[in-house]
Amino acid sequence: MSKKIYLDYAATTPVDPNVFEAMEPYFSVKFGNASSLHQFGQDAQQGVILARNQVANFLGCEEKEVIFTGGATEGNNAIIKGFGLNKKLAQAVGGPLRQGKDEASKIHIISTKIEHESVSDSIEFLVKEGLAEASFLTVSREGIVDPAELAEAIKPNTVLVSVMYANNEIGSVQPIAAIGELLKKLNKDRANKIYFHTDAVQAVNYLDCNVQKLGVDFLTLSAHKFYGPKGIGAMFVKQGSVFTKYLHGGEQEFKMRSGTHNTPGIVGLGAAIELIGERQKDNEKIKQLRDKLIGGVLKIEGAVLNGSRENRLPNNANFRFAKAEGEAILIALDLEGIAVSTGSACASRALEPSHVLLALGLEHLEAHSSIRFSLGRFTEEKDIDRVLEVLPGVIGRLRGITGGVNDRKSKLLKSIGC
Ligand code: PMP
Repeated sequence: MSKKIYLDYAATTPVDPNVFEAMEPYFSVKFGNASSLHQFGQDAQQGVILARNQVANFLGCEEKEVIFTGGATEGNNAIIKGFGLNKKLAQAVGGPLRQGKDEASKIHIISTKIEHESVSDSIEFLVKEGLAEASFLTVSREGIVDPAELAEAIKPNTVLVSVMYANNEIGSVQPIAAIGELLKKLNKDRANKIYFHTDAVQAVNYLDCNVQKLGVDFLTLSAHKFYGPKGIGAMFVKQGSVFTKYLHGGEQEFKMRSGTHNTPGIVGLGAAIELIGERQKDNEKIKQLRDKLIGGVLKIEGAVLNGSRENRLPNNANFRFAKAEGEAILIALDLEGIAVSTGSACASRALEPSHVLLALGLEHLEAHSSIRFSLGRFTEEKDIDRVLEVLPGVIGRLRGITGGVNDRKSKLLKSIGC
């Protein structure tokens, strides 16, 4: 069988060999605990110091504004839940907190309908606990938030806006700098500041993440999306921002995030983020290959690109194929050695279509017939040629046999009110 083709870089990326090389000593000779005072500890700490510097350079912030985490799920949970747990803030926006009884005593958070679950579920958690109220902004058919709609959603008790930089399913890029500018203006006349968080996980490898230019108070990222290791991330927390300590037990990370440093991971994150600048040329190549893929796939009858043609990450292409099922396409391509992902999360586990695709205004069946291709540093032209060779046949075969399946699925979805 020919080489396997990986087109799921939005899910995760392989560790770059240079990153792996930088990490290796921290598993062996430099194994010390970065908080230990002896030489072993100091050697490990040097790695943490360098990585913090690399991240701060990338983000254009102070080193003390970089907090290492176990990934972006942790960062997003920590930042958002921290607002809900901050009693002083609730008092400031509406008097003493009387759980669930007095809307005015709750903080208000604004987010969007297309966020990653680590953001939306954290907000929903606060709402369920009676600690916050929330507004989730709609997006255009192209998956973009309108800053004017955001301005209208702001209330006196709004304390946090959380808008992702780039979407993980359709790659749509949000106007973060424009929102940052808007909030800066509005904050001038407000009693309580509205803080601004962006989940930049999918953006880091492709877009300018300078936090001054973006005008954000919080930014979260995750190394495994940019050729670093899994289980390590960082958050930018602007000095003086509302932040509630969420892991107690030690003084690491400026007393904001306790726990022994994951030195190999931190060093890997630093090395990977530094490499991004050097690899910008790769991104041009990736975009050309992605455009070739889009051009070729759209020749297939009934194929439609989900999201914006222009305003999307250079490595993302998400299509729907009338009368073919996403999961069936994924499995058929996997059998051909091509790894992709369903735009629809109607996995074997649940019949839920993707909330992102529904937010674009797609019908449930359209969402269920979607597939995401995400390219990366190691994608080659022959990989795209292979996809374009195989895909028309796959779709044709599935349409031949899955028309009926789709009809049955449609009835099933209707019967459960999906
Ligand atoms: N936000 C976005 C947009 C993501 O794509 C992901 C990962 N799929 C996360 C957050 C969570 O990141 P992590 O894997 O580091 O927990």
